[in-house]
Amino acid sequence: MVEVVGNLHLHTVYSDGALPHAAVAAAAARAGLDFLVVTDHNVRVQGLEGLYRIPDGRQVLLLSGEEVHDMLREPQRNHLLVYGAGREMAPAAQGQPPQRLLDAIAGAGGLSFLAHPVEAAAPWAGEGEFGWDDLDVTGFTGIELWNTMSSVKMMLPDPVRGVFALFFPDLVMIGPPPQTLRLWDDLLRQGRHVVAIGNADAHGAVYRFGPLRKVIYPYEFLFRCVNTHVLLDAPLSGDPAVDGPAIYRALAQGHAFVGYGLPGNPRGFRFGAWLGNAVTAIMGDSTPLTGGQTLRIAAPAPARLKLMHDGVSVAEAYGQELIYQPTQPGVYRAETWKRYRGRERGWIFSNPITLTGPAERIGNT
Ligand SMILES: [Zn+2]
Ligand SMILES: [Zn+2]
Repeated sequence: MVEVVGNLHLHTVYSDGALPHAAVAAAAARAGLDFLVVTDHNVRVQGLEGLYRIPDGRQVLLLSGEEVHDMLREPQRNHLLVYGAGREMAPAAQGQPPQRLLDAIAGAGGLSFLAHPVEAAAPWAGEGEFGWDDLDVTGFTGIELWNTMSSVKMMLPDPVRGVFALFFPDLVMIGPPPQTLRLWDDLLRQGRHVVAIGNADAHGAVYRFGPLRKVIYPYEFLFRCVNTHVLLDAPLSGDPAVDGPAIYRALAQGHAFVGYGLPGNPRGFRFGAWLGNAVTAIMGDSTPLTGGQTLRIAAPAPARLKLMHDGVSVAEAYGQELIYQPTQPGVYRAETWKRYRGRERGWIFSNPITLTGPAERIGNT
């Protein structure tokens, strides 16, 4: 497996972002990312996909996606990240129920992720709340488990904490919102394949507070924070027509994890099901529960490792490895928490491995 690290939610001057594509790509290359998917609001910008290189030789692949919502709806909630649909999906959202949009994206062969599904407003900063309302929809690929800017906004209920966050941005980042983790576990427990991704939602906006003028959360800083690590069958070629579909295929399968880069580089993390010396399933996969099977978490640095089964912690260890012998079918996922700047912070969140039993329970009556 080849691990590539990217960010799948950011804005440019084509919507409410501060920088054009090339400058955003340069920031991503400096931050060490392998790929970016630009998601401007209700516009799929074409003609700018490709490989971007900075003077020191580092390069990043830039792809075009879209963040779609119904602009006729008030409040303008239900933001949806769209990848690989091959066409503009915003028109399918206007004045339509979200299910209609999800069906149109699926029909176009695209992926859809509920963006920042749980939020809180910061009214003193003019920041509204744009969570996801209609949780009875079906057919979406996954959810944005950790959106850096959205999770920061949730930590800023008043201007004092807002200014604090401006100068100590990493101190207010603790992990994905607990409500979003709960939502994900609930969906997984229903037996649904819901893939988690983690992104920046970078805008590079300038914030004015009295005499202060500061770019809040610059692109490059955010690209060092929460990203999505994708496991591919082959290295990136540099051709967006080849790499885009490969990345989206792996994402749809859930061959991915969410990593927060500041406490330590999450590259190299693995979560798999093993039988003897062979890996029988990686994150995102399903495999039958059998005797002699183990689930293994391998972290690139010591951390608190946690194995979750159907939303409940079943094993915990401090170190770089956790090995568990499952006896129950269900959905297993891995979390790691790492100390950074005075407290433990969410570090890595894997997509789940489903161990299927001899028979699937399809109802509870
Ligand atoms: Zn949004
Ligand atoms: Zn956004």
